[in-house]
Amino acid sequence: MKSKICLACEKELQGRSDKRFCDVHCKSAYHYKKSIDEAPRFYNKVDNQLRLNRKILKYYNKAGKATLRAETILELGFDPNFFTHYWKNKKGDVYLFVYEYGFLKRREGNKEKYVLIKWQDYMSK
Ligand SMILES: [Zn+2]
Repeated sequence: MKSKICLACEKELQGRSDKRFCDVHCKSAYHYKKSIDEAPRFYNKVDNQLRLNRKILKYYNKAGKATLRAETILELGFDPNFFTHYWKNKKGDVYLFVYEYGFLKRREGNKEKYVLIKWQDYMSK
């Protein structure tokens, strides 16, 4: 039978075959390290989604302003839950921005659309 090793310190484990750690110290060290390792993965996931969102908005907003069917960009992997900041205009419409590219969801009849705009200097005031 193959002897088992501790997941934290890699020492050979004695006793019960369902043991995964030498003791509680190794167990907590292992879980602590695991939580540290997983943090960058979440960061990278968000980062990748923001990059993809920006790329898609940039592609469909070459003129600085555009309106398109929501499916057009959703099909490409655009995720409206990932944005960097927002801007509210005088009418109270809240545009969400992915860096310099903004979008606003609008319903026309039964069609969902996105209005795309570009960040302007006056918006930061
Ligand atoms: Zn150990």
